[in-house]
Amino acid sequence: MTNRVVLASSNHGKLRELQEALSGTRWRLTPQAAMGVTDAIEDKLTFVENALTKARHATAITGLPAIADDSGLVVPALDGAPGIFSARFSGQGDAGNNTKLLDAMSTLTDSDRDAHYFCALVFLLSSDDPTPIIAEGRWQGRIGLAAAGDGGFGYDPIFEVAGLGCTAAQLSPEAKRELSHRGQAVTQLCEALGRSR
Ligand code: IMP
Repeated sequence: MTNRVVLASSNHGKLRELQEALSGTRWRLTPQAAMGVTDAIEDKLTFVENALTKARHATAITGLPAIADDSGLVVPALDGAPGIFSARFSGQGDAGNNTKLLDAMSTLTDSDRDAHYFCALVFLLSSDDPTPIIAEGRWQGRIGLAAAGDGGFGYDPIFEVAGLGCTAAQLSPEAKRELSHRGQAVTQLCEALGRSR
């Protein structure tokens, strides 16, 4: 028996990645746009709360279980910025975000360049599900002095992966999926779904 689950995202990359990861389970993903669901307002203070908000919105409208994620880049020396505002940090897209972050870090010491990506991925059976599955991934690195590489997206050209001596934008898509905050959370969620639901 298979069951449908709505994905509270319109990102094709996320849909494909999750679909592959869920292929061994009974869950089959449908993107929310295919069911006429528009994006929820992300107005919470944490990644987990924003992911729950998106999933609750999608399941309330469709009546189906829902999966949603929220992710971003966290720089402890900048009090966690850009954090939940990662996508709209500069208001000028990925290139503007990277420039703004490099500028904000220009006076910091080398030891203050540590950063991590964070991803919260949640599964809700219904809008009043009191026991959501919450999976998390964290990918450690540091912010480089200049951009390098042309793969990935977002902050990847300035995110130097811990222990690898390259940026996330210099990794193959497969290597990034294996290591990344999102890849970790997807693996964790699929294990939990295979076990318990
Ligand atoms: P979203 O959760 O996919 O909407 O991502 C929020 C924002 O966080 C993105 O627009 C990027 O700015 C940043 N971000 C999240 N994950 C990544 C990543 O894997 N690489 C680069 N930037 C990321």
